[in-house]
Amino acid sequence: MPKTPEDIIRGEIRALKGYNVPDATGMVKLDAMENPYPLPPELRGRLARLMEDASLNRYPDSAGSRVKALLRRAFEVPDGTELLLGNGSDELIQVSMMAVARPGAVVLGVEPSFVMFRLIATFVGARYVGVDLREDFSIDIERTLGAIEQHQPPIIFITYPNNPTGNLFDAALIERIIEAAPGLVVVDEAYHAFASRSFLPRLPSHPNLLVTRTLSKLGLAGIRLGVLAGAGNWLGEIGKVRLPYNVNTLSQIVACEMLQHGDVLTDQAAAIKLERRRLLQRLQEMPGVTAYPSDANFILFRIRQAERVFDGLKQRGVLIRSLHGSHRLLADCLRVTVGTPDENTAFLTALTQTLEA
Ligand SMILES: *Cc1c(COP(=O)(O)O)cnc(C)c1O
Repeated sequence: MPKTPEDIIRGEIRALKGYNVPDATGMVKLDAMENPYPLPPELRGRLARLMEDASLNRYPDSAGSRVKALLRRAFEVPDGTELLLGNGSDELIQVSMMAVARPGAVVLGVEPSFVMFRLIATFVGARYVGVDLREDFSIDIERTLGAIEQHQPPIIFITYPNNPTGNLFDAALIERIIEAAPGLVVVDEAYHAFASRSFLPRLPSHPNLLVTRTLSKLGLAGIRLGVLAGAGNWLGEIGKVRLPYNVNTLSQIVACEMLQHGDVLTDQAAAIKLERRRLLQRLQEMPGVTAYPSDANFILFRIRQAERVFDGLKQRGVLIRSLHGSHRLLADCLRVTVGTPDENTAFLTALTQTLEA
């Protein structure tokens, strides 16, 4: 008898539902924290010409030296800090977990947070332990330190600002976690472009701290480029787990060109931040809605019958994300990505209509 997936595939993999990406054809797409703005035509033309000259017969630059140099400048990476590039920061989460995951090792995070931490931990055969945040989405430091003491995790993930709650945790509490950690602490700064604070400047004072960033939320989700920053002794080891050509030539070319015209994306981020303020205000004015302040390019809000509201929005052509049912603290919560002014207005109109229906 030939073996079946039931015989061969690990039980914990078969138990997964897989990362669900809904079809958004024809919708106002406010579900995935993408930058809604296209690139200016002259920049797109320049990218097209660069593509023409790309040596696609050759393997990419494995080290990504030029991208790294430009990222260093754009992100003001502290001296003495090394960088590792990834096919999105998702891949950097994956390689850092793979490098530390002994059988039965615990990967620790807070909950609710980025769902990929738990998923990737499962992929690599580690055990994910999520410590609940407080009701106000702040870190429960006593419980977190207790869990660190109990599980001795070789790696801890903290998202700053947090997804899906949008808040920046108290930096002093993250410092205490870094001090208590027996191994690595990765601060995931996927939303750095919309946030007022960062742990990147603190890297030199914490030898076991790593920081990830990505160009995805900034406006280049399609090229898949993430970066892991930290001390060379750690990145040297973690880098061995990375596949040698993980960042393709076209992505490297686009990244280099965009980083040399960085103000295009940072101007767009500024527009998104302005819209975030308007959207938050409008949501907070709506009766029955609790909208949470955000340092990211999305807003989490709580509303009665969230599932019905989500469906009502979808019927009206607006796709956001429902988090209802994903965690106790997210009961009746929806998350909307900040779009263009027109998209946000379309969302608010559809929301009003749904509530009145
Ligand atoms: C979106 C997101 C990522 C993934 O970013 P990519 O670089 O596109 O893989 C990582 N961490 C958090 C917290 C995110 O929200």
